[in-house]
Amino acid sequence: MLIHWCKKKIISSNKYILEKAKKQVKKINSMESVLEKLSDIQLIKQTEKFKLLIKNGNSLESILPEAFATVREASKRVFGMRHFDVQLLGGIILHYNCIAEMKTGEGKTLTSTLPVYLNSLSGKGVHVVTMNDYLSARDVKTNKPLFEFLGLTVGLNLSNISSNSKRKAYFSDITYGTNNEFGFDYLRDNMVLSKKNFVQRKLNYALIDEVDSILIDEARTPLVISGDIENKSDLYLKINNIIFDLVQKIKKKCKKKYYFVIDEKQKQIYLTEKGLNIIEKLLLDKKLLKKNESLYSLNNIILLYHSILSLRAHILFFKNIDYIISEKKEILIIDEHTGRSMVGRKWSDGLHQAIEAKERVKIHNESQTLATTTFQNYFRLYSKLSGMTGTAVTESFEFKSIYNLDTVKIPTNKPMIRKDLTDLVYLTEKDKIAAIIQDIQYRIKKKQPVLVGTISIANSEIISQKLSSIGIKHNVLNAKFHSQEAKIISDAGKPGSVTIATNMAGRGTDIVLGGSFSKYKSIQNNCNTDLNSLYLKKKWEKNNNLVISSGGLHIIGTERHESRRIDNQLRGRSGRQGDPGSSRFYLSLDDSLMRIFAPNGIKNILKKFGMKNKDSIEHPWVNNVIENAQRSVENRNFEIRKQLLEYDDVIDKQRFVIYQQRKFLLYNKNISYVIKNIAKDVFEYNIKKYTNKKYNKNYNIIRYIQRRFEIDFNIKINIVYVNSVNKKNFEKKIIDLIYNIFIKSYCIKKRKIGKKFMEKIEKSIMINKLDFFWRDHLDSMDYLRQGIHLRCYAQKNPKQEYQNESFKMFISMITCLKNEFIKKLCFFIFKNEY
Ligand code: ADP
Repeated sequence: MLIHWCKKKIISSNKYILEKAKKQVKKINSMESVLEKLSDIQLIKQTEKFKLLIKNGNSLESILPEAFATVREASKRVFGMRHFDVQLLGGIILHYNCIAEMKTGEGKTLTSTLPVYLNSLSGKGVHVVTMNDYLSARDVKTNKPLFEFLGLTVGLNLSNISSNSKRKAYFSDITYGTNNEFGFDYLRDNMVLSKKNFVQRKLNYALIDEVDSILIDEARTPLVISGDIENKSDLYLKINNIIFDLVQKIKKKCKKKYYFVIDEKQKQIYLTEKGLNIIEKLLLDKKLLKKNESLYSLNNIILLYHSILSLRAHILFFKNIDYIISEKKEILIIDEHTGRSMVGRKWSDGLHQAIEAKERVKIHNESQTLATTTFQNYFRLYSKLSGMTGTAVTESFEFKSIYNLDTVKIPTNKPMIRKDLTDLVYLTEKDKIAAIIQDIQYRIKKKQPVLVGTISIANSEIISQKLSSIGIKHNVLNAKFHSQEAKIISDAGKPGSVTIATNMAGRGTDIVLGGSFSKYKSIQNNCNTDLNSLYLKKKWEKNNNLVISSGGLHIIGTERHESRRIDNQLRGRSGRQGDPGSSRFYLSLDDSLMRIFAPNGIKNILKKFGMKNKDSIEHPWVNNVIENAQRSVENRNFEIRKQLLEYDDVIDKQRFVIYQQRKFLLYNKNISYVIKNIAKDVFEYNIKKYTNKKYNKNYNIIRYIQRRFEIDFNIKINIVYVNSVNKKNFEKKIIDLIYNIFIKSYCIKKRKIGKKFMEKIEKSIMINKLDFFWRDHLDSMDYLRQGIHLRCYAQKNPKQEYQNESFKMFISMITCLKNEFIKKLCFFIFKNEY
């Protein structure tokens, strides 16, 4: 109810934003005639003028109309393209900290030039975030001439460039790069040992392209930088062999239920009593478990843990659906929403290694988390955020509640005329595929291009095999062929061409009816008028007309995705800029979405009603079932992301403190006053700890303190002094005494070795300890997080418990950190043992 009310509220506030923006568009349009009369040099000088206005305290908002009009005029001269009014509208919305939903083909790349130009004028940097390196490089190539014409610098932050090149890219007015790279650079910057090594500046304004993919789909997995620890390949392999045999046997006898319970949604397996017994027996047979030892003893629990991991790897994770094996024989996770391989990402807690063992590829070491954050918390660090995409409205509630971003639907430049046909449902997968093939045959006979969208690589391959078997030429586009993506997509609009793609492969590249027209465009711009090019132009025009008269691009969805947004993205590939087109989804009762959510026994009921295998049903009731199923999965996924964020929010506050401290250390030369404060705290803490021990006589306490300080801190306390310490205020006096000894020696040491050298040593000890303890803390937090759900059994709220525990752990970590730092420093001061 509350969510519904919030959604309504969001829609009405969006209308207000759109109305406000429309008034700005009018102002921009009114300036066109004046700006048209400026020479190129005068137009370029506009940038200097705007920069000066901002320097003198004018807001970006106040110069928006003239700045946008300048970009439009420059674009006319550089690209020969004049921003449409709806693009101006989109640009304004992006400047207002919002998400602009603009349909595919509406020209988001050109739209982005407007807010990017305006926001870069402050000199604080603008980040344009894309999904992959290819798209970043392509957008830089496209937009750079315009920005450079207007006197701005553009940098490209790729994953494989040196730190120097990265720094240069970040210090440009505008920086293009991927969400991963921006996020990883942020984490890496917080691991450097000298301020010279920072690559990023303060995070100012980020414009995210395909924002739903980045802030929603990718936000389910955190960003992690890790270092290798232990190699347990041998154990993984041995357990894998046992589980492999077991799974084969179970499959033959169909006894899965007998041994374990599978939770398909959570991708978890729980062993039954019988399952536990059989695993115990197998481990005994293979001598991994000693006779008379229990699987539950503390030493053996690791065997149980690895066995469950291996079972999950064998039963719940599938090659070409959940992961692929790369050419380098590495396991690459496939993003279930995008169908893309997620290079550099790994499943945690040993699952990745269990899958490597299953596939018999090299088993990588398990790793320790060195730094981590979530995309949600990374992007919240920007002073201003905005994003654009073809499909955002279904997720507007999440954008608002998590990122405080409003979603505004921008009208299309030309009316949308694509025909979205209702879904057809078949009894079985086989019948569905037969119907799809029939539809493809029908379309290509008319010379209509077809794009078939599947939800997994395995499904792409099934359709591809079927088409090959009947001699239909086609292209397959999936995570395996990343590099050829753009080329395949640009051909997808040719007459009668068939392209099979996992849902979002090729996203970000336009499908033009008749095929790519980049060569034709250069003729339009009068750059190329030789005979060959004119011939190509004629040919393209002929193909374009042919495809338009055959009905435009036809989209076939082979299954409904869990999320309506992803289905809309697939549909959105057709019908760009008023083009004709059509779309249809084919479903079967075997589809996973239908299997999990359709009412039980529906197949039998339909058969009873006389439905035969080749029949299909087309009924609003079906659409309702599907939409409800999708809604419930969307809600569940939202909950998963929300939960990830709620847990990360706890750690985020701690990360903020640690990163602030690190920055302080790197930027401040003189930290002696900090050291003095820490030393006082540490001595006080230790003295209190020692005096709390129940010693009867003061004499014992003094001896004890003396001994401890000599061992732990290398500080010798003169016995005569100690004895003269008045018994009243004992604690305070002894703390002062030790503190004074420390300060005196500290100053002497500083004089002796030189201030500069001393500062270097202090800082390096401090940073070293800070990093060490922080990493250790991250590990402990991970551990805490994994076990916290068990607190439910004690009627406790796990999130609350996590919050309380982690706070206590953080405080205790800081105390240890201070202690260890002063210890190390004392050894250096008093004995030169550093
Ligand atoms: P989107 O990302 O919204 O799907 P693109 O940015 O890829 O769209 O643009 C689609 C095509 O439209 C590109 O070929 C681009 O050059 C062209 N285009 C965009 N804006 C204009 C414009 N104002 N005038 C002419 N062509 C445009």
